Parts: sequence; C-alpha cells; structure tokens
Amino acid sequence: MRIGNGIDVHAFGPGDHVMLGGVRIPHGAGLVAHSDGDVVLHALADALLGAVAAGDIGQLFPDTDPAWRGADSRALLRRVAREVTRRGYRVANCDVMVLAQAPKLGPHREAMRRNIASDLEIEMGCVSIKATTTEGLGFVGRAEGIAAQAVVLVEPSGQAPA
Ligand code: MG
Repeated sequence: MRIGNGIDVHAFGPGDHVMLGGVRIPHGAGLVAHSDGDVVLHALADALLGAVAAGDIGQLFPDTDPAWRGADSRALLRRVAREVTRRGYRVANCDVMVLAQAPKLGPHREAMRRNIASDLEIEMGCVSIKATTTEGLGFVGRAEGIAAQAVVLVEPSGQAPA
C-alpha cells in the first residue's frame, strides 16, 4: 500500500457561496481561486497524486491554463482518480480535515462524502470528512480563508499499469 497527503488553502473574497467537497454552500463570502476554490477536493487530489508519486495539481492543472478557469474541481478529481487507476492502484480510503471558522459543514458532510465516493468509485464508508475551527487563531480563525488537509491510502488494483 502507499500513502499520500495534501494541503490546500484559499482566501475568502467577494461572493455568496463556497464550494467544498463539490457541494455549493451558501456563505457571506466566496473563495478566491482560479478554479472553483474547492480546498477539500484540491487537498484530496494532491494526496492522491502524492500516493502514486505523480506530481501535484499545480503541475497537472496550471493556473495559467485557461482550460481550468472556474473549473469544476470534481472533474479535476476524477481526472486524478483516472491517473491513480492508470498507474495500477485503487483508493482504499481517504480522510479529509477541513479547517474553517465558518460556514458550518456538518449539514453538508454526507453530500460531500457522497460526491467524493462517486468520483473515486469507492464506498462512502471509505470517505471521511472532518471539520474543526481553530478557536479564533490564525488566518482560519480570523475568517480570512479556509484550509484542508487530506490523507489517502492506495493499494494495488491488480490491473497492470497502463
Ligand atoms: Mg486550491
């Protein structure tokens, strides 16, 4: 088995919603990003790439590439999942920790897990999403942005690498 980790941060800016785990969550601010700013899916994608030593999402989806402007990060995640498959691995489980002072993520957690399970083609029971505030400390605590950290385990799929 192999393990990977990923971290992502986006700053709050003008807007009326954030995208987290592929779920549109109404909020008094948006996230500033070239894509949809989904820190959950970006951290997860980087963890997946890390597990198979395939670089990082900055290399695969450069923010200078207009193709990824405003991109749906679920499409990005599915592309990364295909890369994992192509290299002869499948995802065993993933665990994502979101650091945010707001919005409240509890009501959206199951929808996020469902999206990720679907995109990675794994059981929802293998997808964990957790959230914490930072008790008002740091950039997260000052509500300047949102951070996410992801860990994934992949295992050989039994299919030869393509
Ligand atoms: Mg990002």
